[in-house]
Order: sequence, then structure tokens, then C-alpha cells
Amino acid sequence: MDQDEKTSRQKERSRVAPQSRPAVYAAMSPRAGDVPAEYHPSALHDPAARSRYPTDLHALAFVDPLTGLGNANRLRETVREIATERAADPAPFTIGLANLDGFKPLNDLFGHDAGNEILCQVARRLEACMPDGSTVIRMGNDEFAFVLPLVFERKGAERIGHMLKEVLQAPFDLAERTVRLSASFGFAVYPFAGEAYDDLLKSADTALYRSKRRGRGQITVYSQEIAQEMRRATQLEQALRNAIIADEIDVHFQPIVSLDTDMVVGFEALARWCDRDLGYVSPAVFVPLAEERGFIDALSETLLRKAAEAALLWPKELFLSFNLSSAQLMDLSTSSTVLAIIHRVGLDPRRLELEITETAMMSDADMAQKIVKELRDAGVRISLDDFGTGQSSLGRLRDFTFDKVKIDRSFVCRIVNDRASEHIIKAIVTMCDGLGLEVVAEGIEDFAEALKLKGLGCGMGQGYFYGKPADATATLRYLRERYLPTDAKRPIAI
Ligand code: C2E
Ligand code: MG
Ligand code: MG
Repeated sequence: MDQDEKTSRQKERSRVAPQSRPAVYAAMSPRAGDVPAEYHPSALHDPAARSRYPTDLHALAFVDPLTGLGNANRLRETVREIATERAADPAPFTIGLANLDGFKPLNDLFGHDAGNEILCQVARRLEACMPDGSTVIRMGNDEFAFVLPLVFERKGAERIGHMLKEVLQAPFDLAERTVRLSASFGFAVYPFAGEAYDDLLKSADTALYRSKRRGRGQITVYSQEIAQEMRRATQLEQALRNAIIADEIDVHFQPIVSLDTDMVVGFEALARWCDRDLGYVSPAVFVPLAEERGFIDALSETLLRKAAEAALLWPKELFLSFNLSSAQLMDLSTSSTVLAIIHRVGLDPRRLELEITETAMMSDADMAQKIVKELRDAGVRISLDDFGTGQSSLGRLRDFTFDKVKIDRSFVCRIVNDRASEHIIKAIVTMCDGLGLEVVAEGIEDFAEALKLKGLGCGMGQGYFYGKPADATATLRYLRERYLPTDAKRPIAI
């Protein structure tokens, strides 16, 4: 769900749910649970029932025809009724939104009828497990809502969220197969998250949007802090989009050295952005943001082009290491895009290394495997970045074909005083040796760490001790002043 989708969903809702309705309609409107039989989905296949279907248009305006639950109009009415009831004694209540994760691909894969069947099963499950007095609504597509009159605060909403999440996680039966789903949730507590219906729903929507951005199966209860966080992210996104258009994102280079000779063997490209108003923004913040908001491709392509152009001016034996983001490992066009860029620039693919993380590969391992294979077939080398953190699995080292492993800084920074870190690094180095993989230790900050790593047989190192990331001009100057080709057999002085 991106920003555009969110805005259009909000517009859609205000269209579907009229701002005010004569009170007489409310009395006629059916509630979830007492849907007339002719409106139930099964009735759609009954011609006799179908002929009766459009007769009570007012009632119909409050029912979701597929599931028989109430619809967005019903939600508006229910919230208004409770708010009016509680006007004298303003006790809080909660509304929630649930959006199924990855429903569209399921629908595409199994077909519309199967998709509808799942939505009906979701509706029945939600109805069955909701606390007494609650109302379940289908807002449209794969989105459901609920009103929880007896949930007064964040903890209660989270508890319900976890319960619903579990209920929806159980497999769904579809003819001969079973299907598994997850759902994301957003809750808003009245009146803190909004007194007017539209404000309350918008808050629940903001909470849901945050859950969606954080991955699958997340639960968020709206708060001022969350609203603030979302505003900051949107402000950042706007600034980042402008910076990309204005070509203000730069790329810096950090040396990677051979620990044996202290010679530079390559550089890692690291994105840099300094905004006029926001100041320095870390790539650890803006790269994930660009991924979430769907413009990582544009950013990454510009950065790779700039990095490859800079690398053309370095001695030919030096490699360029470039970080691929997780979204790029889920997009089959990544390999052709990367190869086209370096081909246009004129960089030999054998001088390019791409850094990927295990967590990034997890989302779609088959797809990641295909992309990695295509790139390796073209001569590009692959490094496993931040090894030892995230969702590490030794199985991945066996199943995937990598060329290099980069040991995460969190182990390296403790190597001198912490025996456990030392043993872990020792084990990684031995294992990589056996698997024929090169090893780089990340984040080496002093001589003692460098010495220790060298003693453990680690081949390469990177860190402030050897050089901080610097722009293309400074990198060239560094190379001119300090780098000597390998055949000179003289280490550079750093
Ligand atoms: P990474 O790929 O693991 O990059 C190494 C990070 O460690 C860099 O942070 C680098 O500046 C920092 N570092 C290197 N040596 C030391 C040291 O001795 N001490 C300390 N404290 N830090 C050290 P940076 O540049 O802030 O980048 C953070 C992360 O952002 C990167 O982690 C990478 O995951 C991501 N990133 C950076 N540039 C790009 C890019 O162009 N594309 C993508 N997809 N991700 C990028
Ligand atoms: Mg990296
Ligand atoms: Mg790293």
C-alpha cells in the first residue's frame, strides 16, 4: 500500500460513506449478523433470491454483498451511534482495520472465485472470534474493519490484534489445497485518535499504513508519536524524491584492504545525502525509505552509474563493491538493469561486486537465487554483507553461490576483549576457507583489531582504521598519493 494508494482509498471511503444520513435510514440498516438471507453470497447463485436482491436499496447500502458483513456505511453508522451514546460519559472505544498481506498475488494465482472464498472465510473467522458487542465490517477488497466498544486503550487493542492475527494465520481450505495468509492491523482509540468519524478512521488508516510499511503481520495502535513519525517519513520522502531528481545524492568510497599487505584491493560505494534543511541523512535511513516508497530502483541506478564511472578512473585491478537493496532482490529485472548500466559506462563486470544481505534474500529466496546466478554468469561477484547479523543461516552459505563474506562490525568491534566474538570470527574464517570464500572484516577501527584479525587468517579488512568513506575526487587523490600497483610489492602508508 503506497502513499497514492492510501490517498485513493481515503477518497473512495468518503465517496462510499455519505457524510450525513437521515436518521430513518439508520433504523432500516442491517447489522452484521442479521443480514437478510437474500443478501448472503450464497443467495447470489439463486435466481429467485437474485430477483429480490435490488428491492431494498437502503438496506443494501449497508451490506457487503460478498461476505454479508456490514460495509463502510455500516462502520460510519456504528461509530456515530457509539459516540452519541457515550457523549454524556465519554468512555473510549476502539476501531480497527485489518488488511490481508499478499492477497493480490493469491488472487492472481488461484483465481477470483478462490479469492472470494478466502474473503468469505476471513469474514466468518473474524465474526466468530470477535468479543461480544463488536461489529465486523468489510471495507472492500481485502480490507476489514471492526468496532470494539469495550476496548479502551492501546494494550487492549494490541491484545485483540494479536488474537486476530493468530486466527487469520491458520490455514484456509480451498477445494483440494490449503492457503496461508497473514494480516496487518491498525487501531485507533476514540476520542484520543479523533472525535469525528473521519478523523478516527484516518488515524486507524495511518496506523495500518505504518504496519504495512513494517512488513507482514504487524500491529500498530495510533498515537501522536506515530503520527509524528509518519509525518517525518513523508517529509523525508518528499525531500529525497526532490534530491534524486536534482541529482543531489552522491556516492562515496571506502577502501577495502588486504590485511596481509595493507594494499587497497577495492572500494565499497556508499550513498551520501546532505539535505539543505534536514542536514546529513544516513543511508541506513533513506535507502529503506526509498525501498518502502517504491523508488529504490531510480536511486540505485543513479548511484551505480556514478560509482561505475568513478571506478573507471581507478587502477584496473581494483574492484567496486556496491550494495543491492532487498527490493532489488525481489525484482527479476535487477540483473539486466545492473549489467546494462555497467555495460553503458564501460566497466568490466569482473570488477563489480554486489553486496547482499541474508535478510534481503529471505523474502523470495528463489527469485534472489535466479538474480544472483544471472549476475555471476556475467562475471559479477557476490558478497554476503553484514554476515552474522539478521537472519543468518549456514544453510544459505551451502545453497547459494557467493564469492565473499563480510563479517559484521558488531563482531569485529569486540574482537580484542570478547573471547566469544573472537571464536565466532575464527569459526567464520575457517568455514569460509573450507568453502573457498573470501572474507572481509567490516568496521576495523584500530591497529589492535587489525592485528588480531590478521592473526586469525582473515584475508581482507575495511574500516575507519584504513580509511573513511570519501568522495570520488578525494578517492582519486588518495589513490594517486598512496596506491602502488601490486607488482611494486610495496604497501601503502595509511
Ligand atoms: P554496509 O553496507 O554494511 O556499509 C558499512 C557501513 O559501516 C557504512 O555505513 C560505513 O560508513 C560504516 N563503517 C565502515 N567502517 C566503519 C568503522 O570503522 N566504524 C564504524 N562505526 N562504521 C564504519 P553507512 O555509509 O552509514 O551505510 C549504512 C548502510 O546503508 C550500509 O551498510 C548499507 O546497508 C546501506 N547503504 C549505503 N549505501 C547504499 C547504497 O548505495 N545502496 C544500498 N542499497 N544500500 C546502501
Ligand atoms: Mg555493504
Ligand atoms: Mg556491512
